Amino acid sequence: MTVRTRFAPSPTGYLHIGGVRTALFNWLFARQHGGQFILRIDDTDVARNVDEALEPILSGLKWLGIDWDEGPGVGGPHAPYFQSQRADRHRAAAERLLAAGHAYRDFARPEELDEERKAAQAAGRPFLYSRRFAAFDPETVRRFEAEGRASVVRLKMPREGALVIDDAVRGRVEFAWEREQDHVIQRADGSCLYHLASVVDDHDLAITHVIRAEEHLSNTPRQAFIAQSLGYSLPAYAHLPLVAEPGSRTKLSKRKLAQYLKNNDFKQVMDHGLKIAERMGVKAEADTFNPVIVDFYREVGYLPWAIDNYLTLLGWSYDDKTEFFSRDELIQHFTLERINSSPASFDPKKLWAVQDHYMAALSTNEKLALMLPFLVKAGLVADPPAADAVETVRRVIEASGDRLKVAGDILAYADSFLVAEPPLDAAAVQQRLAKPGVKDLLAAFGKAIETVEPFEPAGLEAALKGVVEQAGVKVGDLVHAVRVAVTGKTVGPGLYDCLAILGRDRSLARIAHALPLCG
Ligand code: GLU
Repeated sequence: MTVRTRFAPSPTGYLHIGGVRTALFNWLFARQHGGQFILRIDDTDVARNVDEALEPILSGLKWLGIDWDEGPGVGGPHAPYFQSQRADRHRAAAERLLAAGHAYRDFARPEELDEERKAAQAAGRPFLYSRRFAAFDPETVRRFEAEGRASVVRLKMPREGALVIDDAVRGRVEFAWEREQDHVIQRADGSCLYHLASVVDDHDLAITHVIRAEEHLSNTPRQAFIAQSLGYSLPAYAHLPLVAEPGSRTKLSKRKLAQYLKNNDFKQVMDHGLKIAERMGVKAEADTFNPVIVDFYREVGYLPWAIDNYLTLLGWSYDDKTEFFSRDELIQHFTLERINSSPASFDPKKLWAVQDHYMAALSTNEKLALMLPFLVKAGLVADPPAADAVETVRRVIEASGDRLKVAGDILAYADSFLVAEPPLDAAAVQQRLAKPGVKDLLAAFGKAIETVEPFEPAGLEAALKGVVEQAGVKVGDLVHAVRVAVTGKTVGPGLYDCLAILGRDRSLARIAHALPLCG
């Protein structure tokens, strides 16, 4: 049997972190078994523009390296992969269920159903429809139609016994049939409902394993009933634990951004991201610029593999201690059996640590390739970048070492070197330059570096130490002042590297420019 899994998002306009976790598990499982991973678009209930609403999902998955063997853009032997284009198949299945007596036309009016529902409520028992307006034969259909009634199609669910499934994550799960309503599968206008469509599509696409979020567990009985009534064999099921809020068991939700920002971990990540977005002119709308949505991490410059690696650990573990896996290692080690059933809480700090690990492992060239587009987007580097700008950025990257945590950090580290005159941060000027005595110190340093040869960190450091000794002040007093004078701010690569990258002429010009501001 060839393993075939699927990720079946609705085109919602964004790719949720929890959705990525589901996609990843399906993808890993298929890759491990040499099977196929299918992307199906569940777009039956979508009124808005599907292409537009799908774009962030497709591009997000691509960015994350989660490639699909069949689906939008790649096609495949089971096309179409859009649920809305499979409506004929869904209708035909509804007809078959009707013909076999597993479903019926129901002519109840909403108020008649309401009455029954209220009566059940008042009696304190679960609502189960009396099937008073069910029609199982053409004659009854005609009679109800003559009364001017419209009909929907409902499943004729079993009322006794139970469905038992062997869920790969949860083990044996039993669902009593008496708790299942006669679910509607087709509306009065002939359109079919999601659960019918999903079962028919899973069958038509030959899906062998349905690996999906826990919230779909309660849909399983009706879906299994549809499948069995249509003579399909059931897929294997694996219901994944919730991706929960940090330190909680409640589902992570993009709508709760305002609330999450009161959580310090999220706030730090967001504040960092917002600064980067501002520099690049990215509109920080809650719809995309939200740490629950993949676009956020992409805009800020996370590494896709850091996200994949981290999300795989949300609910799955290899041996309870290994945290970092290459793509091949994950494909090799992943098993459904080691997925935990309790909610996995999303931890922005942990993701940050995983990101830090992978960023630190990149070579300068890799960082350069990753970061240049951010500088281009921010307008700090031309498109295509000029050779001297690339060289400057390379040196900044080397000099910044592990201080660059996400690709977007390059903006704050490289900007001073890419503009003619960096703006001087007012607070930094106040704190580091305006103090009495700084002017003389800075002037002396300027003088000292006129002759440093070569104009490289070691000689520059010696020059600074000489000035400091001569004046009898602390190294820090001058280091901080020079940094503000030449870069305009207090953070950046090591000072001697900054000077070397700028070169003698620009360093001296900036010092001269800062002198009038010194105390
Ligand atoms: N379209 C459904 C969702 O987005 C898929 C459900 C399933 O995997 O069966 O949640």
